[in-house]
Amino acid sequence: MSYVDETLARVKQQNPDQPEFNQAVYEVLESLRVVIEKNEDAYRRDALLERLTTPERAIMFRVPWVDDKGQVQVNNGYRVQFNSAIGPYKGGLRFHPSVNLSVIKFLGFEQVFKNSLTGLPIGGGKGGSDFDPKGKSDREVMAFCQSFMTELCKYIGADTDVPAGDIGVGGREIGYLFGQYKRIRDLYEGVLTGKGLSYGGSLARTQATGYGLLYLTDEMLRCNGKSLEGKTVVVSGAGNVATYAIEKAWQLGAKPVTCSDSNGWIYDPDGIDVDTLIEVKQVKRARLTEYAKARPNSVYHEGKGVWSVKCDVALPCATQNELLLDDAKLLVANGCFAVAEGANMPTSLDATAYLQENGVLFCPGKASNAGGVATSALEMSQNSQRLSWTFDEVDAKLKDIMVNIFHNLDAAAKEYGMEGNYVAGANIAGFLKVADAMNAQGIV
Ligand code: NDP
Repeated sequence: MSYVDETLARVKQQNPDQPEFNQAVYEVLESLRVVIEKNEDAYRRDALLERLTTPERAIMFRVPWVDDKGQVQVNNGYRVQFNSAIGPYKGGLRFHPSVNLSVIKFLGFEQVFKNSLTGLPIGGGKGGSDFDPKGKSDREVMAFCQSFMTELCKYIGADTDVPAGDIGVGGREIGYLFGQYKRIRDLYEGVLTGKGLSYGGSLARTQATGYGLLYLTDEMLRCNGKSLEGKTVVVSGAGNVATYAIEKAWQLGAKPVTCSDSNGWIYDPDGIDVDTLIEVKQVKRARLTEYAKARPNSVYHEGKGVWSVKCDVALPCATQNELLLDDAKLLVANGCFAVAEGANMPTSLDATAYLQENGVLFCPGKASNAGGVATSALEMSQNSQRLSWTFDEVDAKLKDIMVNIFHNLDAAAKEYGMEGNYVAGANIAGFLKVADAMNAQGIV
């Protein structure tokens, strides 16, 4: 049996109840097959794939807190420190009821390659909790964040592990988490990114993932003789990534016509209005039905459905496995020619294969959404230097990073005979740097 197949079987056997983690490992190792096979004996001798697919550390902890009725609630907390070969662990915290060890491990594993692709010195990690901030008062969110950080602070630090936001963790949560870290550890250091501007945050971090997604998409289209100008774009999600993807799509001359949340979705024939979206989701923390009330030309639909809208470019920006085979078929039938992932692993394996087989340009999230973590790394640099760069400085660096990422994965795909396969290109380019660093550091 080949080393890749042995590893896939071992990961499945050791983690039978972790479907998301198995899915992520399968996607990566399948596309690394050609690289591994060239050097199979050495990699096998060094157990490189065993080490790559096993987190350096996985911390699980109890998070007790008191709700507004005086009832004690208990959630599960996680931090998976996956790989520190190229820098301190770096990756977001997700607060969502669907969080479990499988989800955090898949995200941490993906993060290793994504962070490598940015070209910046950051290792991979991820964390979170099954806590649901929705419907909770600010005091309840603060109580939860303080309890979560009371345990997490033992394992993180500006040169060890630097978490950030993800689903359910925005500016409010990062603020409460940072305050508690500082209080317990008595250290004012850049231990979290995505901080507010008044206490060490970076300009453009809020916009970075969405903007970065569009910078990379724009470059991918240009290199394939196309452009965003005048194109119809379909976006899922209505959170941080989706909102700023929509804003940048407008700025690059495209027309984004949809967004969605966990209850339903909006089609706006005039294009999604960013101010209204921000007012509904960030200020009022309300449902998208409120968007439809504010924009009478738009239509609200319950449930899922954005992929049924005719478009040129599709940007899944909500969550994992939200674009399935039937959705891919609809996109192709409707003439969509490019899909770039804003979320992590939003497209299932069979849907990805279908899109690629039908000539759709497809960029995986670990490349196309890397602008968030890249700008987090820029926030770390500013914190270390006690400096704040301007919005334009950060935005220009972000754009350079995204354009470079695209060219690196494009070149890697070409070098290994898979021109245009950006999934393979991203995995290979990300892997080679991590493998080289692991090799140089001995068996650790
Ligand atoms: P937010 O919490 O800001 O927004 C998430 C959006 O997706 C919300 O509109 C939410 O709906 C919707 N959503 C969440 N879960 C589901 C679900 N199970 N079904 C349908 N809709 C759902 O998160 P982000 O925008 O930060 O993150 C979105 C994706 O991007 C995630 O995959 C994340 O890992 C990834 N990502 C984020 C980065 C960042 O910098 N923030 C960086 C790189 C990747 P509702 O409003 O109802 O909650």
